[in-house]
Amino acid sequence: LKIKTGWNLDNSYTNLPEIFYRKIYPVPVRSPYMIVLNNTLAKTLGLNIEELNSQDGVFTLAGNSIPEGSIPIAQAYSGHQFSHFTMLGDGRAVLLGEQITPDNKRLDIQLKGSGITPFSRGGDGRAALGPMLREYIISESMNSFKIPTTRSLAVVETGEPVYRETALKGAVLTRVASSHIRVGTFQYAANWGSEDDLRALADYTINRHFSYINKDKEKYLLLLEEIIKRQASLISKWQLVGFIHGVMNTDNMSVSGETIDYGPCAFMDTYDPDTVFSSIDTAGRYSYKNQPKIGEWNLLRLAEALISILHDDEETAVKMAQDAVSKFYVLFINNYYEGMRAKIGLFNEEKDDVSLINSLLDLMRRYEADYTYTFNALTENKLEDTILHGNSEFMNWYNTWQARLLKQQRTKEETKQLMRSSNPSIIPRNYLVENALNEAIHNENYSVMNNLLSAVSNPYSDNKEYEEYKKLPPPTACPYRTFCGT
Ligand code: AMP
Ligand code: MG
Ligand code: MG
Repeated sequence: LKIKTGWNLDNSYTNLPEIFYRKIYPVPVRSPYMIVLNNTLAKTLGLNIEELNSQDGVFTLAGNSIPEGSIPIAQAYSGHQFSHFTMLGDGRAVLLGEQITPDNKRLDIQLKGSGITPFSRGGDGRAALGPMLREYIISESMNSFKIPTTRSLAVVETGEPVYRETALKGAVLTRVASSHIRVGTFQYAANWGSEDDLRALADYTINRHFSYINKDKEKYLLLLEEIIKRQASLISKWQLVGFIHGVMNTDNMSVSGETIDYGPCAFMDTYDPDTVFSSIDTAGRYSYKNQPKIGEWNLLRLAEALISILHDDEETAVKMAQDAVSKFYVLFINNYYEGMRAKIGLFNEEKDDVSLINSLLDLMRRYEADYTYTFNALTENKLEDTILHGNSEFMNWYNTWQARLLKQQRTKEETKQLMRSSNPSIIPRNYLVENALNEAIHNENYSVMNNLLSAVSNPYSDNKEYEEYKKLPPPTACPYRTFCGT
């Protein structure tokens, strides 16, 4: 008797003009071995967990066999990498298709690290275990913070080494996404496609992600405006939680508004707007404080790509594009301060709130306070163990804040609840992630990672468990560094 697998794949992307993809099979690997499977996600996808854990299932998640109904493809796209425009495409990933879930959502199922494709250029098409587990941990954390993100269904070790500076264990990550349409996909269409190709991509995107757009009006302008809104919302959420993407190239920006392409990303410990983790980002282009500006810059690149279909008259089209993108920053700021007010327990908006918030951040910056921990301490009114305790500047701020809280007709308990639900107390801190990865990779001990995954899946500060994950990180001798391209 064959177990029902639950695969229910459609391949609507292959109905786009052929320039958008190449049909390609994943390259089989030597001895696939399941490292981690996301049972919760598997269930929402309608997949059979028992089957996924069987040899057939692991073979599917390694790319050694293809699930029923799949037309595997590599997607074409280009992008600005550190402001330099280039042709890219899935060089180490294959889209198996779109899973239609039991509640009728359409989600891309992509194997990352699945071997060379026509877009691989010099690369080996493979991924190392460490970065794939890192993507798994961080994307699942982002999901538990209710931040739109691609998800991770599984990481399978390949049994084959990948060669970087040294030989590393190879792995394939199964990524689940609303779609993999990137700003860079539009740039690709605008640069290498016809106007019909560009329209086809825009119409496909509207149908898939923005079906509520009125198609009788200027639908491509509305599309641009919706993408801008989603990015303004997304990036504000990153800022609020202290997430640094690290490589906000236009190919790593999803038009659906999900966080995508976890490479050198990391969470900020000490509050410092100049924080950069990525070892290759020497100029700090993608620092914490630059993320909104870069978001806007990327959206301008999207707007440029759409010019030819925004309006028949080019001058008018340019004006439309500029006007649309010029709204990004205001949208971002409004989202950001709305979130910040909630983080300090404010239910309504008053004129001086922005300066109250900025004063706190400035104190945190000058006294090198931990970003997450400070908000938790304010929430629980346990300031004794924060670096700001006893600081007279901070006490002035604290008294102003308390006076502001008294002005709103809310109980202390209501305020605390708002703060608890707005401030995670468990984030995948760098030392926790590093420790989990080391144990997994070098000692084949996966319990540290699994415990971390349990902890971050219940991140809000009313959580009574997992006390050790809420602590301040141990002091480090040198700044944390992350690496990409592995
Ligand atoms: P990323 O830095 O992950 O956004 O990737 C940028 C581009 O490099 C994309 O086109 C990837 O598909 C490609 N790429 C990254 N790593 C590899 C690899 N190991 N082999 C082939 N292509 C790769
Ligand atoms: Mg990328
Ligand atoms: Mg990538």
